[in-house]
Amino acid sequence: MTKYIFVTGGVLSSLGKGIAAASIGALLKSRGFKVSMLKFDPYINVDPGTMNPYQHGEVFVTKDGAETDLDLGHYERFVGVDLSYYNNVTAGQIYSSVIEKERRGEYLGRTIQVIPHITDEIQERIRKVAREDRADIVITEVGGTVGDIESLPFLEAIRQFGLKEGKQNTLYIHLTLLPYIPSIGELKTKPTQHSVGRLREIGIQPDFILCRTQVPLTRQARSKISLFCNVEEENVIQAIDVDNVYEVPLRFERENLTEKIMKKLNLSSKKENMKEWEEWVSKINNARSEVRIAVVGKYVQMKDAYKSIIEAFTHAGAANNVRVYSGWIEAEEIVDGAEGKLSSFQGILVPGGFGSRGIEGKIRAIRFARENNYPFLGICLGMQCSVIEFARNVAHLEDANSTEFDPLTPYPVIDLLPEQKKIKDKGGTMRLGEYECRVKKDSFSGRAYGREVVYERHRHRYEFNNTYRKILEEAGLRIAGIYPEKDLVEIIEIPDHPWFVATQFHPEFSSKPRLPHPLFRDFIRAAMEKTL
Ligand code: GLN
Repeated sequence: MTKYIFVTGGVLSSLGKGIAAASIGALLKSRGFKVSMLKFDPYINVDPGTMNPYQHGEVFVTKDGAETDLDLGHYERFVGVDLSYYNNVTAGQIYSSVIEKERRGEYLGRTIQVIPHITDEIQERIRKVAREDRADIVITEVGGTVGDIESLPFLEAIRQFGLKEGKQNTLYIHLTLLPYIPSIGELKTKPTQHSVGRLREIGIQPDFILCRTQVPLTRQARSKISLFCNVEEENVIQAIDVDNVYEVPLRFERENLTEKIMKKLNLSSKKENMKEWEEWVSKINNARSEVRIAVVGKYVQMKDAYKSIIEAFTHAGAANNVRVYSGWIEAEEIVDGAEGKLSSFQGILVPGGFGSRGIEGKIRAIRFARENNYPFLGICLGMQCSVIEFARNVAHLEDANSTEFDPLTPYPVIDLLPEQKKIKDKGGTMRLGEYECRVKKDSFSGRAYGREVVYERHRHRYEFNNTYRKILEEAGLRIAGIYPEKDLVEIIEIPDHPWFVATQFHPEFSSKPRLPHPLFRDFIRAAMEKTL
């Protein structure tokens, strides 16, 4: 019998609902339950794949190639699971599948309505996760904030779901904000009262309220929320700001949240295993030295666009007993002669991206890293720019480029494969998800992985153009990873360098707390050795 937990958010967005849901998942997993996660996104896009990073933040890619919300990244990292396309459901997917069924005649004779057709479809998606992942517990996070028009069908669906499954099998957790007013030294509960009021109007009575606060939750605030929101005082849980998100499960545990959830859901377990997590967190918090990495990108004002990279730094830092400081450098600011901006860092990373803005700045940063022996990691677009840089400045292929930025370049060292050229639709048509990569033993990557066959996640349209492989290799480029089935170049390296690796895939998506990605781990280690 699967148990279901629903997490909703109130007052405003960006309160860390994803981290809260992921933390609860981590805690329940530590008690020996098989936990799966589901994220509902109330927007009409089928997936976030076609959205701008400013709109959406990072697009997280699952093993099976789904382009999903960045919360799935938190779930994978906290719960230690690999998720799939069915773990992220958008309003767009729900509506399009209901409309397809209507066209097939599956509702013949009836009028299609939000209730029951849309809400039934939503509930079926929750059951699908329970079935596919054979979960003891499914935690579903409803995106958006209570009160949004878009999230209404989802809230209605989870209300009905609770009615059908019964009280002992479902649980509602609401995350809100308690603003602190310094002039009177008080935590205000009114916004929470209002947002819980909205939830109860729809028929959802939360079992727990998680209160985001800057300062410790007072007895008064707790009892006021309990009284006005109809929640037992002990189930009003403090969720205080922390510097390190991996501390959140430990904070919840201090409030005895796991036991309380288990009690409500009639679950019991003797296991308890957050010890290693706790040790790992204190390792991060107590790291004495710092290593400085420059991230040269084009969405640097929007750190959420690089979420998994930031997390992969944390994991790699812990493995090396060092804190990773990342300096966010706007690629467009690296104009000719401005490379000096990078000299105070010990390592340089160029992340993925789309479109031509900032490309020349990234290429300058890469040249600086290559020529001045700065440890370098290039990811996806970062790899493509590394190939362009090498072609232009080492192999003397003047004006070499990717056809994404210059369709008429004389040396298209990065280009579309013939099968990609035929594709017209933009949604879900890139090379997506996990592919095999054969790694060259005697290389930076080979030493990092310690294995010759690895699987890594992709999200790109363009590829290394094999026409130029021989010329570039003869000029000194090392091809350190290949996708054997199609002979595609997946990793390039500069051999005569302390550490220079660039990958067509995204290593950051598979880095986990106590299992740092080997390339990030070795990149950070190499950067620590860079003396300025
Ligand atoms: N724009 C490049 C491509 O589509 C790189 C994509 C990326 O960095 N994720 O191939």
